[in-house]
Amino acid sequence: GLPAAPPPVLGKRRVTRQLRVGAVGVGSDFPVSVQSMTTTVTADVNATLQQIAELTATGCDIVRVACPSQDDADALPQIARKSKIPVIADIHFQPKYVFAAIEAGCAAVRVNPGNIKKFDDKVKEIARAAKDHGTPIRIGVNAGSLDARLMAKHGKATPEALVESALWEAELFAEHDFHDLKISVKHNDPVVMVRAYELLAESCDYPLHLGVTEAGPAFQGTVKSAVAFGALLRQGIGDTIRVSLSAPPMEEVKVGTQILQSLNLRPRKLEIVSCPSCGRAQVDVYKLADQVTAGLEGMEVPLRVAVMGCVVNGPGEAREADLGVASGNGKGQIFVKGKVIKTVPESKIVETLIEEAMRLAEEAGPP
Ligand code: SF4
Repeated sequence: GLPAAPPPVLGKRRVTRQLRVGAVGVGSDFPVSVQSMTTTVTADVNATLQQIAELTATGCDIVRVACPSQDDADALPQIARKSKIPVIADIHFQPKYVFAAIEAGCAAVRVNPGNIKKFDDKVKEIARAAKDHGTPIRIGVNAGSLDARLMAKHGKATPEALVESALWEAELFAEHDFHDLKISVKHNDPVVMVRAYELLAESCDYPLHLGVTEAGPAFQGTVKSAVAFGALLRQGIGDTIRVSLSAPPMEEVKVGTQILQSLNLRPRKLEIVSCPSCGRAQVDVYKLADQVTAGLEGMEVPLRVAVMGCVVNGPGEAREADLGVASGNGKGQIFVKGKVIKTVPESKIVETLIEEAMRLAEEAGPP
């Protein structure tokens, strides 16, 4: 048969330069990638590789590791070699670690522009080393470490100040004919952040790394990031994303992945369509939805599973999904591809849904 039409997306992708972070392409020809950052001490190679393995299993595309000391720099070759996903070294300001990271075979380096001026005379050498090794650089402008000169000029970290900083740093590299750059202009306020990225997108064609910095604990950080990334991705702005949460980095990857799936920027996998419940509910919808979600975690095939509390909207939603249940009178009507295949007692709803999901997954074959 004909290949299925790709699912609709909200915005046309902004056309950018392309670069490669290891095996992962970044830029408008490539899917938007998800990044996170390890929380281990980088010098602890085993712990860091273990966390990278967990991030990889969660679906992380690119991982960043901090490099604040010589011991960390010394660990980079082994980490870069053994990680299954590209490793970016995050360097605060010491140029010697930038060279170490490039030599170590890191897939990219992030440098802090608030400090790059201090190694003015090093920019040329960094550009040459990065070019020789094919190592791209992320210019990571951050409201919290904005250059003093720009702080003085703008009074605070405004969108204009962030963008001026980013473009100035990019120009320092461009002067040495180095353009393998991606840029971030992070701020903890989604409104300032969105405006900064919009301005930046208008002013250059470098690929952009999206991030709301210091977004907060999981709940607040998830909402802030989803809203801000949504506003930008809707305009086609953003080539790689990092959700920052005061929570384990695997959570960041789950949120980032879900944001992209929600916008059809990456194929949806398991999707639970469950109702909020209301006074008409005849089963405990929260519990049912949680149990079904837990039972199907890690499903790799796209599957919409509807969990509905009653027969008002229940059958309709359940019919639209691949699989679903509409509950009523202590029973659950189980739907598969729009047809009621059986009615089971409430106590059997979860296991029946999981069974049917597994069966559908098997029929669909490997993803
Ligand atoms: Fe309420 Fe039924 Fe709708 Fe759930 S499906 S929100 S229980 S009316």
